Amino acid sequence: MVTKTLEPCPVFIGGEWREISGLETSPVYNPSRGDVISEVPMCGADIVNDAVSAAADAFPAWRDTPPVERARLFFRYRQLVEENFDHICQLVTREHGKTLAEARGSAYRGLENIEYACGIPTLLMGDTLENLARGVDCETMHQPLGVCVGITPFNFPAMVPMWMFPLALACGNTFVLKPSEKVPLTANYLIELLEKAGLPKGVLNVVHGGRACVDALLQHPKVRAISFVGSSPVAKYIFETGTSHGKRVQANGGAKNYIVVMPDADVPRTVEALSTAAFGCAGERCMAGSTALTVGKAADQLLPSLVEAARAIKVGPTDVSAQPDMGPVITAQHRDRVLSLVARGEKEGAKIICDGRNSGSADAPNGFYVGATIVDQVQNEMTIAREEVFGPVLNVMRIDDLDHAIAMANKSSYGNGTAIFTNSGKAAREFKHRVKAGMVGINIGVPATMAMFPFTGWDDSFYGDLHIQGREGVQFYTQQKVVSSRWFGEGVGDVWKK
Ligand code: NAD
Repeated sequence: MVTKTLEPCPVFIGGEWREISGLETSPVYNPSRGDVISEVPMCGADIVNDAVSAAADAFPAWRDTPPVERARLFFRYRQLVEENFDHICQLVTREHGKTLAEARGSAYRGLENIEYACGIPTLLMGDTLENLARGVDCETMHQPLGVCVGITPFNFPAMVPMWMFPLALACGNTFVLKPSEKVPLTANYLIELLEKAGLPKGVLNVVHGGRACVDALLQHPKVRAISFVGSSPVAKYIFETGTSHGKRVQANGGAKNYIVVMPDADVPRTVEALSTAAFGCAGERCMAGSTALTVGKAADQLLPSLVEAARAIKVGPTDVSAQPDMGPVITAQHRDRVLSLVARGEKEGAKIICDGRNSGSADAPNGFYVGATIVDQVQNEMTIAREEVFGPVLNVMRIDDLDHAIAMANKSSYGNGTAIFTNSGKAAREFKHRVKAGMVGINIGVPATMAMFPFTGWDDSFYGDLHIQGREGVQFYTQQKVVSSRWFGEGVGDVWKK
């Protein structure tokens, strides 16, 4: 169903908001209701060229703006984001479907990246060594790259863009943001606020679209670096295409995250953490704990209360004041994919012990709902064990001991996050030492890193060298220069000699 007035979705180029007409469009839904709220223009090479050119033109002046002044822009921006926080969260909820509490939690993770960017004068400091040789001094400097690009996924409409542009800009780069075509409205609003904070024209630009738009960005000769977050096949494509065109690329991909539950784990706390890790944000998180590896008798101890907790999760529309526990997934197509993966798991021999497939909302019959689902007795060769489901579905694999649990987790081609629940320091130590994943939780179900630490996916969860966030983020958005200097002429003599 199409609502009467669609929200505009302009691009932002050279400091001007521009409505684009005459192009193919893609619908933006309110997933809680299933209705279309906006149409995104699918921009191509000409609009991308305008945006990159505006960013390239703005670069010399922005690069020469002192880091303390660039930081002040982000102090003002931080204030505006905080003042308009509720509105940002409502936008996230409306176009993505997260609950307001989930929108707040994730937008705060974004805000922390702005706060981190406020520290840029210190973060950009280099090293010096006096008298590298007699009369020769040496210093390192961290200089910006030029035009950087951010391409973001649908699942965190505010947080993921904020992983990228605050730090890239604070480092002195200019930027072109290409938000997910499924959730473009939150990104546009974040940039409206940046404009209000005093963003100079052209320093940040926004284009909208899909593959053609991304390809034009990947190939544009004036683009120096690309930050990407999305699914693994696209991350790999972005990395290969971007690097083959001479760009620096960091590309975060998808995931399949394992949570090992030892027989000595605290049952109520583990149930709570597992339930949040698997079903929070309707499972649409790259750090979702989507597979529980229960060791020994842990399954029998855990599953009755876990099933009870999952059954109690109330699904419904999130664009209302009485908030449900869980919102919809992003589109009808995605809901159908999640349902078909569960059905396939059942066909391949797994047991559905909590079935959310017929969950819906009487208040919002056209919304894209899937209820919390638990699939027990999953085997590694099953499709549901291998593919990222990206919905509120928890697989349970029963394992004999910790060694086999670690071996099972390490079979995955992904390596984003993982966790162990145990009271044994020895088990936790073994796990953190041997498991192959970039982010590890010990009695923490979603060990996603915060702004000051890099977001360290491994294997098919990340393509590149320098991760997003933290000092690695600063390294990614800068290039080092080492200056060795000598000044000729008479010295003043040995002033230390009395
Ligand atoms: P997606 O890969 O479909 O899209 C991501 C971006 O790439 C979008 O902006 C989209 O327009 C663009 N895109 C899509 N297909 C493309 C193609 N063929 N060529 C060029 N560009 C293309 O991802 P999504 O569905 O929006 O997001 C969900 C995925 O993102 C999940 O796999 C999730 O695990 C992953 N994710 C990863 C992280 C992380 O940090 N590792 C964080 C959030 C989400």
